[in-house]
Amino acid sequence: MAWSNTFVVHKFGGSSLADADRYKNVAGILSDRQYGPQGVVVSAARGVTDDLLALVAAARRGEAVDDALTALGARHDDLAAALLQGDARDHYVAEHAKDLADIADIARATTLMRDASDAVIATVAGYGEVWSARLLAARLAQQWPDRAVCFLDARDVLTVSDHEMGPVVDWARSGPATVDALGADFAGTAVITGFVARDQDGVNTTLGRNGSDYSASIFGALLGASQIHIWTDVDGVLTADPRWVSEVKVIEELSYSEAMELAYFGAKVLHPQTMAPAVEHGIPIFIRNTFAPEAPGTRIGDRDPDAAPVRDAIKGITSIDGMAVVNLEGAGMIGVPGTAQRLFGTLSQAGISVVMISQGSSEHSICFAVSDADAQRARDLVHATFRNEIDSGVIQRVSLNRDRSVLAVVGENMAGAPGVAAKVFGSLGDAGVNVRVISQGSSERNISAVIDRADTTRALRAVHSRFYLSPQTLSIGVLGCGTVGRVLLEQIAGERERLRAQFNLDLRVRALANSQRMVLTDAAMDLCTWPAQLTESQTACNPDDLAKHVRAEHLPHAVLIDCTSSQHIADRYPAWLGSGIHVITPNKKAGSGALETYRRVRDAMREGDARYLYETTVGAGLPIIQTLRDLRETGDQIRRVQGIFSGTLAYLFNVYDGKRPF
Ligand code: ADP
Ligand code: ASP
Ligand code: MG
Repeated sequence: MAWSNTFVVHKFGGSSLADADRYKNVAGILSDRQYGPQGVVVSAARGVTDDLLALVAAARRGEAVDDALTALGARHDDLAAALLQGDARDHYVAEHAKDLADIADIARATTLMRDASDAVIATVAGYGEVWSARLLAARLAQQWPDRAVCFLDARDVLTVSDHEMGPVVDWARSGPATVDALGADFAGTAVITGFVARDQDGVNTTLGRNGSDYSASIFGALLGASQIHIWTDVDGVLTADPRWVSEVKVIEELSYSEAMELAYFGAKVLHPQTMAPAVEHGIPIFIRNTFAPEAPGTRIGDRDPDAAPVRDAIKGITSIDGMAVVNLEGAGMIGVPGTAQRLFGTLSQAGISVVMISQGSSEHSICFAVSDADAQRARDLVHATFRNEIDSGVIQRVSLNRDRSVLAVVGENMAGAPGVAAKVFGSLGDAGVNVRVISQGSSERNISAVIDRADTTRALRAVHSRFYLSPQTLSIGVLGCGTVGRVLLEQIAGERERLRAQFNLDLRVRALANSQRMVLTDAAMDLCTWPAQLTESQTACNPDDLAKHVRAEHLPHAVLIDCTSSQHIADRYPAWLGSGIHVITPNKKAGSGALETYRRVRDAMREGDARYLYETTVGAGLPIIQTLRDLRETGDQIRRVQGIFSGTLAYLFNVYDGKRPF
């Protein structure tokens, strides 16, 4: 290795570079850990790449781009004004103005031609990283007058070539070029543009959307770094995408392969190609949160052989939408060697990447998932390749189904852990998600399934809750917050933690209503502030909407507790029970009206496999009903029941002194 001191590489994504305060925060994080040479790879400020790409697209359509350029100019001038002083600021603003003038020229040419080559698009898209890296470098230089800080444009050192799987680094050229650019005795901080590179002919290119993660690991390898820290806006790699699943947890540790699978199947927090250079050089990657720098984040790398064994069978659940499935069907394929090879050879030659493949053991059909953008082309290619077989009836059909997603469950410990697949597909079945195609890699690191796109969120939540929530998680709705409801809520608030710790029982009150208003929350409600929440709520009480909310697909059980004495609410029990919602109530209406009503309730319980618990409607809460039921279920026969079952009457009899007429 060229450098005598070991580098640490940090990468800051657009989410960490949204505005001037965020740049200051990043500079602060770097000074806190400044103990040796650093490579700092940066993305464009948030949204800038999108803006630049939109600008080229507009120019291609012949639209004016002046406003877009002015906005980009103003945004970066404001950043410079907030972050830099004196000459440094003037220099930054002047360089930036030159770049904007160049972009205006490119846009003009693009408008004239109504077209833009890949190189033009890459050139314009890459300005965001240049502006961002220059800005941070200037800020750091100002902050550390005694330290060597330099700006490095990755295009001056990084050469990549195009490959089917994405850009591949030319290490033989890029390694020496990096040493030349920085100098072999460099021991300061190099702020490096992410995302951008040059091709073998020296033409500007990029590493693809989100490619700065890949840049970080490439520069980790080029600089011989001991660690790569990828800083973003979440606490690490999470068990699922936090935009769709609310109960996610940070994954402490991932192997490179697990991280690769998660990234490949849609965990946007990491670019799938990031792993390769890090694996090659055994560099651990840490995913950290710029908003919570003290949190440990996720460590991706080889496991310490002495570390305690990992218990979780799975690590995370991801999804990719915008997929389509092509299915090739025909009895004539059975036992014919080479069909798969012809099929996938054709697709590979056309540069179509296949996300997942499944073949039944009867070989009667082969199907594969591709991105929706490639779907029609893939189908037509397959059709053309097997034209003879189709004409002669050996292959019956080549069908295409769009609007699909791929759901993937990832974890190395699945291998040899029986029952994981049963849990995955059981939870999908319970949530009413139709599974179209299933595939499990022979590494048993991943189970993937194709589902309808419309079911994606529901499927993610269902599988996530089956693996990560207590099976005794109750989604609770309370109707009626009078004397009884209030005491019940206090009781739940007081006992919740103990019930969770001792019995793995997770009570989540997610809906609350009085006769006028209701409050619906996604996570468990704060039971100390519920009266205020209810008073301030703008939502009128609607018991049906409330029931629908409580019956959340991602939570194992739904319970409605009716603390009213309303007939109107009791009339809804059959519908609720029939849809699988358990009902608990001290409301006597449903149990003391017409026998027909009671029968409807019992039928609905059976239909929905739901429980109806009404112990407190008899004997003022004494354990009568369950006791009688237990006696009967264990063979006793009830001959006589004696007592006073009305709390009111019992009270009156107790206080009656026998003197006055009753
Ligand atoms: P950056 O700008 O730092 O590169 P990105 O927006 O590209 O950040 O990636 C971070 C985002 O990835 C998170 O804000 C989160 O919404 C999303 N994400 C999707 N899946 C996951 C996951 N499994 N773990 C963590 N984040 C995820
Ligand atoms: N700025 C680029 C993008 O938005 C690269 C990155 O942020 O990783 O895709
Ligand atoms: Mg990213």
